[in-house]
Amino acid sequence: MVEDNYTKILKRISKASGLTEEEIERKVEAKIAKLSGLISKEGAAQVVSAELGINFDNEKFKIDELLPGMRKVNTIGKVIELFPVRSFERQGKQNKVVNFVIADDTSNIRIVLWDTHHIELIENGTIKEGSIVEVAGGSMRDNEIHLGSFSELKLSDESLEDVKTERIVKEKSILDFKTNDSVSVRAFIVQAFDPRFFYVCPECRKKATPEGDGYNCAEHGKVIAEKRALINFVLDDGTETVRAVLFHDKLKDVGFTDLDNSDILSQQKQNLLGKEMIFSGNVRVNKFFNNQEFIIDNVQALDIDDLLNKLEG
Ligand SMILES: [Zn+2]
Repeated sequence: MVEDNYTKILKRISKASGLTEEEIERKVEAKIAKLSGLISKEGAAQVVSAELGINFDNEKFKIDELLPGMRKVNTIGKVIELFPVRSFERQGKQNKVVNFVIADDTSNIRIVLWDTHHIELIENGTIKEGSIVEVAGGSMRDNEIHLGSFSELKLSDESLEDVKTERIVKEKSILDFKTNDSVSVRAFIVQAFDPRFFYVCPECRKKATPEGDGYNCAEHGKVIAEKRALINFVLDDGTETVRAVLFHDKLKDVGFTDLDNSDILSQQKQNLLGKEMIFSGNVRVNKFFNNQEFIIDNVQALDIDDLLNKLEG
């Protein structure tokens, strides 16, 4: 069985403190109880480790050992995806930010650069896709490593083979969803809204806006737009609820066959309520409502045999 992050952090704290894993687990449980369950096991383990005076500052972590909330993290990885530098204005000042993804043999993670000296390394091509980089003094914010002016970023002379490039999907409770997570959760559909329709350009698939008697794409001009739909749901896994979005091609996976027939639609919506399934996707911030939104890209029916196997351990 693959060790989960919690087991790994228990082992690390145990090794660093000389206490047994059982003793630490008791401290973690006491901490969770004291905080009325408002903290995850991993989060509580972090607090316990800080209280024991353990400091991982000089330790290098594998990517899958990094946990939300950790400070001053050090790790090494190969750049597998690099995003364009973005500029934005804050309090009248021009700022830049850039993201990239690094991978090692255990996992991959997004890195966010805020410091102009670090961003220069990307702009002048010192760090590019395929580079092996070393980061030090980063902070874990949600599931990303953020590097500020006190952090370090440099090329490493280590070589990394067989890095894990596939997107890492974690099984999580809705309560523990963090922005930018790729997650999978077993949850009930507790509310389903009416479909909303929009139009896309047939070439680039971006949103097309109505213009005159047709549609216009910012890149391709006047186009014969394709009609698309999305449906919002509320999912509940017992820990929390989240607003979820399911797009066009996936709607059939939850049983929608005809969005234009209001009788069939309302029947199919009704059938979904209380249905439990496994949903995978990305957690985003909906800028309009300023809340978390779960963009579903995969829906699976519950496999009862698989569940029984898991329960029986
Ligand atoms: Zn287009």
